[in-house]
Amino acid sequence: MNIALNPLLDFSDLPQFEAIKPEHIGSAIDSLLEQCRTVVIELEGQSAQVTWENFVEPLENVTEKLSRAWGIVGHLNSVVDTPELRAAYNENQPKITEFWTALAQNLTLFTKYKALQLGPDYASFSAARKKIIENAVRDFRLGGAELAEEDKPRFAEIQEKHAALTTKFSENILDATNEYALYIENEAELSGLPDDAKQAARAAAEKDEKPGYKFTLHFPSYFPVLQYADNRELRATIYRANATKASELGGQPAWDNTQNIVDILKLRDEEAKLLGYKNFAEVSLVSKMAQTPDQVISFLQDLAKRARPFAEKDLAELRSFAKKELGIDQLEAWDVTYASEKLREQRYAFSEQEVKQYFPEPQVVAGLFRTIESLFSVSIKPDAAPVWHPDVKFFRIEKDGALVGQFYLDLYARQGKRGGAWMDDARGRRRIAEGKDGIQTPIAYLTCNFTEPAVVNGQAKPALFTHDEVITLFHEFGHGLHHMLTRVEELGVSGISGVEWDAVELPSQFMENFCWEWDVLSHMTAHADTGASLPRTLYDKMIAAKNFQSGLQTLRQVEFSLFDMHLHYDYNPDGSKTVQDVLNEVRAQVSVMTPPAFNRFQHSFSHIFAGGYAAGYYSYKWAEVLSADAYGAFEEASQSSGNVLSSDTGARFLREILAMGGSRPAIESFKAFRGREPTIDALLRHSGMAA
Ligand SMILES: [Zn+2]
Repeated sequence: MNIALNPLLDFSDLPQFEAIKPEHIGSAIDSLLEQCRTVVIELEGQSAQVTWENFVEPLENVTEKLSRAWGIVGHLNSVVDTPELRAAYNENQPKITEFWTALAQNLTLFTKYKALQLGPDYASFSAARKKIIENAVRDFRLGGAELAEEDKPRFAEIQEKHAALTTKFSENILDATNEYALYIENEAELSGLPDDAKQAARAAAEKDEKPGYKFTLHFPSYFPVLQYADNRELRATIYRANATKASELGGQPAWDNTQNIVDILKLRDEEAKLLGYKNFAEVSLVSKMAQTPDQVISFLQDLAKRARPFAEKDLAELRSFAKKELGIDQLEAWDVTYASEKLREQRYAFSEQEVKQYFPEPQVVAGLFRTIESLFSVSIKPDAAPVWHPDVKFFRIEKDGALVGQFYLDLYARQGKRGGAWMDDARGRRRIAEGKDGIQTPIAYLTCNFTEPAVVNGQAKPALFTHDEVITLFHEFGHGLHHMLTRVEELGVSGISGVEWDAVELPSQFMENFCWEWDVLSHMTAHADTGASLPRTLYDKMIAAKNFQSGLQTLRQVEFSLFDMHLHYDYNPDGSKTVQDVLNEVRAQVSVMTPPAFNRFQHSFSHIFAGGYAAGYYSYKWAEVLSADAYGAFEEASQSSGNVLSSDTGARFLREILAMGGSRPAIESFKAFRGREPTIDALLRHSGMAA
């Protein structure tokens, strides 16, 4: 296949986004898969002593091409979806999955990795190479490569059944969500609801050719009802529908997830035992930073204990406010969101709209870049590259005049672009030749879905970002910096590759902290009309509102995390105790407000029953401890120098955390930076829960 004929096969430099068309995809992927299979067959048949150069390198070279090409296709599918592109994507995806699955179960390759690990060269390998081999052996083992022959068919069956059950779990939620409809004819019943929510409900009813307003269990439809509707009965109705969906109490019996949950847990337990572990939580933690389930449980219980007094205070305030101001004598689950919103409005009299006027895109982006430049002694400059949409900008990062990485910035929501914000890698850092020019520099996609600039009287006004959007931008850039500022020269562990799941949010959540610093904000704001920077009074209100009900929110996260951990650790799905019993026990232990008995939140807990978070939901809080504690070093530096943008501390963060990527365990990187084990103090302080 000729590169001139197929731009997806050109790996010489940046992707040729303007030339790549859906019709290139099938032939490029077929050709790359063919190349991959050929190399795999050659490696399998190789009889020479296995070395890094004759085994890992050729495998990495050929699979990297497949990953990069498919990465481009996946990226385009996410940001400029068209029927042709989607068709090509869906047609090729099964081939890609099949290849990676077969590779992960290739026992000949597994044997070679092990031989490399036990071979004479191993001791002289760099830490990065050792880590790559270690990870590969670990993943083969977890994939069942070392099982006794007679156990392998059952292991494969478990994988298949588990995949089918988790898919069914999601489908049930989706079907139950889609089926539910609540029609309200009388507008008076919707008092309190914002106009945009009403308009959306009206449009939904019109689509069904019904009068009035339609509400569903999709978040943007039901949540404003819980948040704003003065009509208590309406709130109770929609709360109950949402809290019972896909259970024995709501939706069609065929969509009840009760048995699916038990069956999923049984399969995981069986898989763990086949692999030689006591329970699935142990399996989940093999590739994570946390060492044992007990360590995770103690961490969560400790956090619960510390958050509890704050949560009790939050709840007492809310109850008394609801009684006095809203006439709600007995605060029920369907009142909590509503009463909280009213309390927030009363206590912190400012609106998101007001804040937004101070955050025009040019100031925000310049402020972000300045923050990064000050912290890490790099410079960010506009650069040129083929792009997939005229709104996309491209930049380069230089350090001491040398290129270290590049990134695409695609900020605005538009038709055909998947929602949310994310960082993805277009290319990873690795050494491809000797000498100082022998480095392939990393490239990142930074994608957001912010409001595009408004056009007023034919003139485009800069886009205005909410403070939440600014935080999102900093968050995604944290991931981007982790990817782009790495110094590791081995692809498998450079940047975010190979970083433990429960540590990967460290750099991203770390970057969010700067969005709350007066020194940073005062320099990155300019009112859309007057050009004035953010007034101190408004900033103070934002800070005061930052930790509104953080005690209650923390306990909620702990409740979910403990429930997840216990289900996969010390719960016996064949025993007499039910999943509901486990949840009730956790709630009795940590919650300050028990949800109604009909609440079946677990029946739509997709993170753990259909996503990758089984025995891993704790990762959110775990990584937050790390990011808050890491940020604490900058706060300490600022106490002596008066500047939180400390370049000394930044250089250390860069060297010990960002630059190291996945080449060593995250705990080692953290300790190298902080000089000690992580502590929870900074997280508590940042959440307004310091003792
Ligand atoms: Zn993130």
